[in-house]
Amino acid sequence: MEAYKSLWNLVDGLLDFVYPRNIECILCRDPIEKKEKYAICASCKKKIHFAEEKTCKKCGKPLEELYLPELCHDCMMTKHFFTRSYTCVVYDEEIKTLLYRLKYGKQRYLAYHMAEMMTAKIKEKELEQMHWIIPVPLHTAKKRQREFNQSEIISQYISRQTGWPMDEKNLIRIKDTATQNKLSREERKINMKNAFQILKPEKIKAKKILLVDDIYTTGSTLNSCSKELLRAGALDIYAITFAAGKNI
Ligand SMILES: [Zn+2]
Ligand SMILES: [Zn+2]
Repeated sequence: MEAYKSLWNLVDGLLDFVYPRNIECILCRDPIEKKEKYAICASCKKKIHFAEEKTCKKCGKPLEELYLPELCHDCMMTKHFFTRSYTCVVYDEEIKTLLYRLKYGKQRYLAYHMAEMMTAKIKEKELEQMHWIIPVPLHTAKKRQREFNQSEIISQYISRQTGWPMDEKNLIRIKDTATQNKLSREERKINMKNAFQILKPEKIKAKKILLVDDIYTTGSTLNSCSKELLRAGALDIYAITFAAGKNI
């Protein structure tokens, strides 16, 4: 574990050298002051919609000002197996580009700043200490092809920032599901059925888990993971994502 940690620090240090952090805005790439929070310039900060004011009491998705219920439409219609889920920003065109750069452009330093925002959210919501941080896994075939699970990289940073341990090996994806964003709500649910498996349920029993993913759309992925974790005896499941679609 220690050896792994120092190796990770070394890799991270090298990456910081290749892509120095806090020298350019992660969104518009204009130069910024080193102290700028989350490496986002003042004008981009104004453009991002942070999930701060009105959010769903279950999934954390931002809600429209004039929408009255406490739960979003999804959470009223679907049973979610996690206790609460939180998110940091609204998924719009700029955030889409940012996530694309992390996922396919492999610009890992972006994950560092996303994790900073997510850790700030965890602190703001005063989440109790978790036994495990678990990233939503990719199927091995997809991970091999992409060489990279963005949720795992984000989780590594959250783990370092919170001091909570991460386990990226126990929850695995056994179904190589089609990319979700082209599917309807119903298709997503069917697609996600029995997509995950827990290798060592004894490590999950009576434990508090924080699931981590980059984006929350209908919640079907997190829901499917949560269901498996509960089946393995998890005590409580929380989830955090970087971005979520606005409730419509
Ligand atoms: Zn900017
Ligand atoms: Zn909701």
